[in-house]
Amino acid sequence: MKTINKIFVLLVLVLASVSYASAKPKVMILATGGTIAGSAATATQAGYTAGVATVDQLISAVPQIKDLADIKGMQISNIGSQEMNDQVWLKLAKEINRLFASNECDAIVITHGTDTMEETSFFLNLVVKSDKPVVLVGAMRPSTALSADGPMNLYKAVVTATTPEAKGKGVMVLMNDYILGAADVTKMNSTNVDAFACPNYGPLGQVIGDKAYFTRAPLTRHTTNSEFSVDGLTKFPTVDIVIGYANASALPTKALVDAKVDGIVHAGVGNGNIYPTVMTELDRAVKNGIQVIRASRIPVGMVPMNGEVSDTDHGFTASGFHNAPKSRVLLMMALTKTKDLNEIRRIFAEY
Ligand code: ASP
Repeated sequence: MKTINKIFVLLVLVLASVSYASAKPKVMILATGGTIAGSAATATQAGYTAGVATVDQLISAVPQIKDLADIKGMQISNIGSQEMNDQVWLKLAKEINRLFASNECDAIVITHGTDTMEETSFFLNLVVKSDKPVVLVGAMRPSTALSADGPMNLYKAVVTATTPEAKGKGVMVLMNDYILGAADVTKMNSTNVDAFACPNYGPLGQVIGDKAYFTRAPLTRHTTNSEFSVDGLTKFPTVDIVIGYANASALPTKALVDAKVDGIVHAGVGNGNIYPTVMTELDRAVKNGIQVIRASRIPVGMVPMNGEVSDTDHGFTASGFHNAPKSRVLLMMALTKTKDLNEIRRIFAEY
């Protein structure tokens, strides 16, 4: 080859590698609604409507995210997350798996209402088939508020999603600087911007300024190591929750047993304890082939097998570190695969 040709080939290779090295990661923002997309008549009032702003409006409110990644947006729904439902979950999970399988993006950020974010994140943690980052983000103040927290949260969610250490950590939530793992994250405050925590294991890390610092990794099974899938699913088994309290009524539990639901989660007092007449109904549930998870209404701590209640004798499964809403999600997914009590107990020990 002539020297001039060699120089040309070298130049092309150098230019190609420079442009490859400086290529920004591709991030898809999937918008589902929530307060982050909320709107109020004034900048200071308490009342507002969730799920108003579109994904394009959310993206254009934070132009700084375009310095971090090539951003694309898709509107999945525009609802307050108190309206979150099986159909949106299935659409979201199937779209995420399609986007990753077709290599259309390197990471996904989901804007979501904060009310049920802990359930959606845990559900996705069980069914996303990729180790690429998935980060849910929301806001406690609507987009029209003075000092709205949504724009900074969205920026930090994209920082998290584009940080190499985010890979393989399972689905995460970014709220108020904290990177929170899906298995443990829960909403702890109904109004304050510092609303989210992982009360049992602590956060996975924090975003300070424009940098994410990871300090922990989850050890329970998730994403690529999960046995659950939404492939072929069009609906979920019916699992409902009843809460325990002093002098509790057995009526809600009786109604669920009579309705022949697939599973009941009992959010008991203390270490998952149960009022006697409710216990009678839960025993009837087990006799009728309904799976019962013995969880707690307390947000922190564990419900181990065979505490004050003998799960072995009653045929229940203890929730472990999962709160009642997360226990509901896990039982729902478990029941897509098995009705075997030992298998359900294994699943609650491993996820
Ligand atoms: N109700 C709202 C929702 O969950 C609350 C919020 O997003 O902060 O969509």
